[in-house]
Amino acid sequence: MNNREINFYSDTQTRPSRAMLETALTAETGDEQSGRDPTTNALCERVAALLGHEAAVFLPSGTMCNEIALAVHGRPGDEVICDRTSHIVNFEGGGPAALSGLMMATLDGDRGRFTADQVLGAIRFPSRYDPVSRIVSVEQTANMGGGAVWPLAQIQGVVQVARDAGLALHMDGARLMNAVVAGGVPAAQQAGLMDSAWIDFTKGLGAPVGAVLVGSSEFIDRAWRFKQMWGGAMRQSGVVAAMCLYALDHNIDRLADDHAMAARIAAHLGGLPGVAQALTPDTNIVIFDLSDDAPAADVVASQMMEKGIRFGALGPQRMRIVTHMDVGPDDEAALTTALTAVLG
Ligand SMILES: *Cc1c(COP(=O)(O)O)cnc(C)c1O
Repeated sequence: MNNREINFYSDTQTRPSRAMLETALTAETGDEQSGRDPTTNALCERVAALLGHEAAVFLPSGTMCNEIALAVHGRPGDEVICDRTSHIVNFEGGGPAALSGLMMATLDGDRGRFTADQVLGAIRFPSRYDPVSRIVSVEQTANMGGGAVWPLAQIQGVVQVARDAGLALHMDGARLMNAVVAGGVPAAQQAGLMDSAWIDFTKGLGAPVGAVLVGSSEFIDRAWRFKQMWGGAMRQSGVVAAMCLYALDHNIDRLADDHAMAARIAAHLGGLPGVAQALTPDTNIVIFDLSDDAPAADVVASQMMEKGIRFGALGPQRMRIVTHMDVGPDDEAALTTALTAVLG
């Protein structure tokens, strides 16, 4: 095995750069949980404006952003309308049920994106027997859809139907900035339509810790109660907020490079006999299915690991490759050579 693992497992695998780490040395800090950390406050103001909202709160993770937002919008027994593949359904340990008593009404969208008509079909009539339809959650980009970008018109359609029915709207914007760079629709035009939205700093933006949740001042006040209750309130968080500010300044435009690399990798996969289909990526996530005569996905993953390249299986025949700032042209070349050796 090579000394250095080439990591296409996820865009969460990036290490903070020296320049990013250096911002922590000079960051002004204070007690975050009493609102006295100037760097964290600056980050919150900046993300609120970027996403078209009044206020923001800094949280340790994207998962906490989702769980707090759902807790604020819903009550036990309420229902969240979202895609079947979404992060809140599959990767948060059942948090919406465990923490907020919420039920999930899951839709079969196209690569994680559902339509206004599907939402309309899922909204329940008020009845003493039924759970109350309360929240619609949109994941931009849709992770398990292969980083698929929701077109603005589709978001607007969903927003219209949800608003007409008095539902709250939430955007899981873990990779919203990838959607902005790929689709050209400013973040505020999409996230601004929601009651709550957030971006993650630990995905393509390359920071080690942090996510920012936005909404109205009233929403953020209520979010703070859960942040305190669930142990997300911090102290001198400016050291990590500074790295997030650095990411906003330096790591957004370059997401286009990740998208271009993902497109080349998908095209390469499409030409390999061991691959049945590779979804054309909108952004930085390549999802592909192995053909029936190829080895199983976990076998392919370990064969790739033997060549020093890491990426993961999503199922018996489904795999995922994610590009990010810590993989460059040499890594891409090593990946495509190894893929040809294993699946060619
Ligand atoms: C990663 C991710 C999350 C969770 O973010 P963490 O910072 O890892 O907790 C939520 N939603 C989506 C779509 C994600 O990809």
